Amino acid sequence: MIATYFTQVSYIIAAALFILSLKWLSHPGTARRGVRAGEIGMALAIAGTLVQSGIVSYQWILVGFVLGTAIGLPMAVWMPMTHVPQRTALSHAFGALAAGLVGTSEYYLHTTDLSTFTMAVLSLEVILGFLTFTGSLMAFGKLQDLVPSRPLVYKGQNAVNLSLFAVAVGTAVYLVMHPGRSELFPVVAGLSLLFGVLLIIPIGGADMPTVVSLLNSYAGLSAAAMGFALDNNLLIVAGALDGSSGFILSVIMCRAMNRSFSNVLFGGFGQVRVVAGEMEKRSVRSATAEEAAGILEAASSVVIVPGYGMAVAQAQHKVRELYDILTRRGTEVKFAIHPVAGRMPGHMNVLLAEADIPYDRLVEMEEVNPEFPQADVALVIGANDVTNPAARHDKTSPIFGMPILDVDKARTVMVIKRGMSPGFAGIDNELYYTDKTMMLFGDAKVFVGELVKELTGSHVRV
Ligand code: NAP
Repeated sequence: MIATYFTQVSYIIAAALFILSLKWLSHPGTARRGVRAGEIGMALAIAGTLVQSGIVSYQWILVGFVLGTAIGLPMAVWMPMTHVPQRTALSHAFGALAAGLVGTSEYYLHTTDLSTFTMAVLSLEVILGFLTFTGSLMAFGKLQDLVPSRPLVYKGQNAVNLSLFAVAVGTAVYLVMHPGRSELFPVVAGLSLLFGVLLIIPIGGADMPTVVSLLNSYAGLSAAAMGFALDNNLLIVAGALDGSSGFILSVIMCRAMNRSFSNVLFGGFGQVRVVAGEMEKRSVRSATAEEAAGILEAASSVVIVPGYGMAVAQAQHKVRELYDILTRRGTEVKFAIHPVAGRMPGHMNVLLAEADIPYDRLVEMEEVNPEFPQADVALVIGANDVTNPAARHDKTSPIFGMPILDVDKARTVMVIKRGMSPGFAGIDNELYYTDKTMMLFGDAKVFVGELVKELTGSHVRV
């Protein structure tokens, strides 16, 4: 009796904490609190479940706990921030596999006495769970370059995929009506596993973060279905939250790239990639740290545009030093945040927050774009696609229509990157060839460090 009471109370608190966690996670200032709330909610959910009398084997749970910790802890500690999309894909794969396996065991344990409703939710759980498992593994492979990241497309592919999915769903519907036909269950599971692979094959690596977020949504829905099958309210709530937030995030990412869902899922984006060597050879104007520091010294307003390269170089702390020096000199410094800069939503916010850059200096794209024409310098640090003016006017460009940061409108543009390599979309950037652009070649952390040194030196001289 006390155990049941404890479970109910801990589930209600956990559900409230999950909702608050999502709310807090949506702003950099409260994100840490959001993570804590989610962690406490999950701990309460686990504790509330473990005291239930239905638990038959604590030994097996302990084995799972040790195994999960042994895999999860090293992943959390050693996988760099830039690998978060593939890490997320792997966790979805494990979560979805768990949902699929629980559904499978529930089916075989209760084959003869399953109600139509339970069989329906079990089928949904198994289909979504297994297709998310293989789909997420494929997404992981593409992001990690273990399988070719280019889209693999062939004629009639969508028809083949949709027919296969229809057969899986049709078989599941038949099973719902005749749960005793257990020989059909492996067909549903097997087709779902195959569909997950086929779903991801035609999608290019450049769209994987969006797809991972969509798979997150499927995994959530699968967990919610599992909640109905196991009669567990918290699973229903958590699964629904996961399912809807993953879906909303995918929509946000699609909007930020000005792409539709169908374009991401069936578009074969990234198929026609311009290879760096084939790009028209045009000359660029490069400059040294000393020259760049001279211009920065004279600037009264600077907009810093961080991108994926800043994350790879882990340059955020050096960027903070640069920010400090410039603001101490009276220069107005802002950070322009593009919604899909980097490799995951909020990537830049996380990095800049880690370096304690004040949140009020971080300005969203719509707000900062009108300010570029008044900026003396736009300092682009390891960003590429999100600054490419082709997105505004070149209808043939794969990123045409993607909202960008209008850095080309600033008086002077400085771009820190190691060479002329393209960004995630694999295309050249016309920004680099304009008269007002100075290319500052080098690793972001090293080059920003040199700028700091130059500016500190001149500060002493002043
Ligand atoms: P980007 O277009 O991928 O460009 C990053 C640039 O950083 C590269 O051109 C690279 O050039 C440079 N770089 C790499 N390592 C560096 C280092 N150590 N030091 C200095 N520079 C370095 O990045 P972005 O402008 O941030 O754009 C993000 C892209 O990801 C967009 O295409 C977006 O659509 C895509 N995407 C993002 C999300 C998301 O949620 N954030 C989701 C889906 C897709 P060098 O090699 O020449 O140095």
